[in-house]
Amino acid sequence: MQRITVLGATGSIGQSTLDVIARHPDRYQVFALTAHSRVEELAALCQRFTPRYAVVSRAEDGVRLQVRLANVHTEVLVGDAALAAVAAHPDCDTVMAAIVGAAGLLPTLAAVRAGKKVLLANKESLVMAGGLFMAAVREHGAKLLPIDSEHNAIFQCLPAGQSGLAHGGVEKILLTASGGPFRLLAEDQLQDVTPEQACKHPNWSMGRKISVDSATLMNKGLEFIEACWLFDARPDQIEVLVHPQSIIHSLVQYVDGSTLAQLGNPDMRTPIAHALAWPERIQAGVARLDLTRYVLDFQAPDEARFPCLRLAREAMESGGTAPAILNAANEVAVAAFLDRQISFRAIPGVIERVLTQLPMSPADNLDTILAADQAARKAALACLPLCRA
Ligand code: NAD
Ligand code: MG
Repeated sequence: MQRITVLGATGSIGQSTLDVIARHPDRYQVFALTAHSRVEELAALCQRFTPRYAVVSRAEDGVRLQVRLANVHTEVLVGDAALAAVAAHPDCDTVMAAIVGAAGLLPTLAAVRAGKKVLLANKESLVMAGGLFMAAVREHGAKLLPIDSEHNAIFQCLPAGQSGLAHGGVEKILLTASGGPFRLLAEDQLQDVTPEQACKHPNWSMGRKISVDSATLMNKGLEFIEACWLFDARPDQIEVLVHPQSIIHSLVQYVDGSTLAQLGNPDMRTPIAHALAWPERIQAGVARLDLTRYVLDFQAPDEARFPCLRLAREAMESGGTAPAILNAANEVAVAAFLDRQISFRAIPGVIERVLTQLPMSPADNLDTILAADQAARKAALACLPLCRA
């Protein structure tokens, strides 16, 4: 029996994870569930899965949750230390890291440092602190399995048991991107798009932040950085390919001319089930792919209309704290767009300004990375009035 902590249980990935877990009560047991502030939803999940612990961010929400769980043997905990504690608890085997944004870094790192099996959806942790994070995976013997559909596909297409590009005749990764909901819009039409339109992804149902990231192509930029760290790849070994149907989830090219791909319907329960059961395979509740329904096509990404991909690649090439600065500025810009303070087209402008304003330093310890994150948030907030349009 695998005992599982789901960080970010009320989110899109959290819900899909619990859906897969519920299909296999003989294999998986929920150890802890966490959420930021959605007390009612977390209470309903606790009633259903009866975890040993439930964690929320604020004390007042903890009190409300406690009241809702009077009839359940779930202990309610509050705050950042509790998140890290349930991720690193000796009675937990596996941690699904599905908090969105920089808030996911410390609890995910706590799971890694406790040597857990870590299912990584929170790509922002690798973007912010990739070098340190991967060193901790090696040092503490954690097993890191990618949940992002592209990275899970790459993992599946690499030679069995191999997690990097160094051996086995692997030459290149082709990272696919749907292109997002605005793929076909002209540059001037991007000016007036709304948060509702940005959050309506053509193929995937996801949280609001990652939906906007998909629309700007920053999601692919973050995934580019994530892939460099996960697979020990140089930036020039990763090529982004727009594939609007989201059926091929990514590909790996070999020196003999072979290209291997992983295909499936766009449903996160497939990579979640793959990582949960790895190296076995289990039912995920996902319909089988009917290829007669699709015509698959591919294009190069347009970095002139969607500069976020370039910004992310340049930040990775610069190294040090640049990706952490990029990530923090992006989080502020996306929140401001969702709050209708800036236009969609202003998002890359905010990020580029912050990246040029702030000095970057080696990302060799967590304090430096967290300080860069804070400085970038402050600089991005100051940029907002200058970058509205
Ligand atoms: P979401 O917004 O639907 O859910 C986020 C979860 O994180 C919620 O449970 C929320 O309570 C929790 N959370 C938010 N802020 C928090 C904070 N400050 N402290 C503690 N908890 C907090 O997001 P999502 O779409 O499920 O995405 C989660 C992560 O998975 C992101 O990093 C995203 O990039 C990645 N991911 C998502 C998908 C997808 O299909 N949704 C695919 C690949 C990767
Ligand atoms: Mg993805």
